[in-house]
Amino acid sequence: MTRVYNFSAGPAALPVEVLQQARDEMLDYRGSGMSVMETSHRGREFSEIAETAESDLRELLGITEDYTVLFLQGGATLQFAAAPLNLAGPEARADYVVTGSWGKKAIAEAGKHCEAHVAASSADTAFDRVPERAGWDTDPGAAFLHYTSNETIGGVEFHDVPESGDVPLVVDMSSNILSRPIDVSRFGLIYAGAQKNIGPAGLTIVILRRDLLARCRDSLPNMLNYSVHAAAGSMSNTPPTYAWYIAGLTFAWLKRQGGLAAMAEVNDRKAAHLYGAVDASGFYSNPVEPASRSRMNVPFVLANPELDATFLSEAADEGLVTLKGHRSVGGMRASIYNAMPYEGVAALVQFMSEFERRRG
Ligand SMILES: *Cc1c(COP(=O)(O)O)cnc(C)c1O
Repeated sequence: MTRVYNFSAGPAALPVEVLQQARDEMLDYRGSGMSVMETSHRGREFSEIAETAESDLRELLGITEDYTVLFLQGGATLQFAAAPLNLAGPEARADYVVTGSWGKKAIAEAGKHCEAHVAASSADTAFDRVPERAGWDTDPGAAFLHYTSNETIGGVEFHDVPESGDVPLVVDMSSNILSRPIDVSRFGLIYAGAQKNIGPAGLTIVILRRDLLARCRDSLPNMLNYSVHAAAGSMSNTPPTYAWYIAGLTFAWLKRQGGLAAMAEVNDRKAAHLYGAVDASGFYSNPVEPASRSRMNVPFVLANPELDATFLSEAADEGLVTLKGHRSVGGMRASIYNAMPYEGVAALVQFMSEFERRRG
């Protein structure tokens, strides 16, 4: 068996130990005689899987009992609607900070359900940075302030949690959740699709401050209503059981790695090594302001785009795959989430330098 270094932005690589454990438990989950996929979500086995996953996630992120943790479906994209539907409503203003493609999608969807207002945007500099907090046009009466903590396509990341005063802070954390410690108490709502840094596609994590449940209107569809999901322990209908199980294996793996402080240290080293190589070369370049660069998604272009296809095919020959940039950006993108080991980034940097020497 050969495992490649998979730089996919999502669905993304999972820790090999997680996959091995899932394989070992596939046919007979801990003496139950069946796979987790085949077991009732209300049975003893799955109840324990669900509870352990939640308590490990709470431990990793330091989530207090002031917050409910939900394991939902529909992706981060459904949360683009759910957040304004639950927390704002048609008459209310919600502020959005737009730093790339996902932020644009979030505000476009929100505009159908509330008065969505651009509080700040870096569109005029081609989304190459996080706009200075001092220049944001935020309303102290807004229902919430929304931002995207890591723009997966453009490779722009917030390295601090922005001030929002008494306005609940809402964040799409899909592509950098669990990559370093965060202070959950700063947020009203955190949401994240699982397929970047947690587990398989099909699971969405929602972390919501409980006092905000009072805002959820009964008239919402049940499947969109945080209050309904919270009251039912995310089991108001059949949850994505297998994805929830794999997420739980990843949380346990993260604890074994030393938790989020240890992950942050490795993630910083990986990103520094890759950006260092890009910046030191005259052949590769990254357009993002250094202070806003993502530690998770590193887009870069070759000085000669005619070499893109050769770069990709020679990289694949070395077991370095899924490096093609997003279709809206072109060039390359290396996604280096928690499951990408330092050795994978080192192998990529080595390949890049050899490619430049041969073809640059
Ligand atoms: C991938 C991604 C999304 C979309 O997630 P889906 O689960 O496909 O809905 C939204 N926001 C960010 C930041 C992402 O990386």
